[in-house]
Amino acid sequence: MFESLIGLVAAAEISKAQMEVQTTADAYYVAVQEYTAAKARETAVKYTVTYDISYRGTILSDKDDFARKVESILLDERGWKRAGVAFRKVESGGRMHVILAEGAQVEAASPTVCSPKLSCSVGNLVLINDDRWRGGSDSYNELGVSIERYQEMVLNHEVGHFLGHRHIESCETEAGQAPVMLQQSTGLRGCQPNSWPLPSELWVSGL
Ligand SMILES: [Zn+2]
Repeated sequence: MFESLIGLVAAAEISKAQMEVQTTADAYYVAVQEYTAAKARETAVKYTVTYDISYRGTILSDKDDFARKVESILLDERGWKRAGVAFRKVESGGRMHVILAEGAQVEAASPTVCSPKLSCSVGNLVLINDDRWRGGSDSYNELGVSIERYQEMVLNHEVGHFLGHRHIESCETEAGQAPVMLQQSTGLRGCQPNSWPLPSELWVSGL
């Protein structure tokens, strides 16, 4: 009798433990569902932007490498996708033209706005300076930041202009991450190099 009572209590304890495990599993399942839904809302496509890639002037960079990197940066989860922009590559006639250009050709696109030493965005032209694409900028090179990080930054910055962004002059916190719309190519202004839009930059206007 006593033994069977112990057995009963033990069984009750086990089923209570099982219930707790089940409840925890259910709560976890619900949390995962909610998280997934929130993520989906966060990355929901609000704008689809078609783009094409072309070249102007004498190009010394590897064109295939450029095209590959452009696609991967535009589709990256850390990029403008977080602002709801889905980029789709087309052969020609895209809404946005990504152009790898010789310095003189960058300037020629809009002599009052663009410099032959920098990349530039004019209307629907996103002009990436061939010298910069290969060589980066002093501001990045002095810190030993890789050319890939520079390439991500410069493309995201110029595409940011296409999406309606102007320059930001300082970081949000002292020595914090540079906004992608800070002109990092000409100097970091005390911020940390950063290639991707900050949460505060995840908006689009004029599309
Ligand atoms: Zn700019």
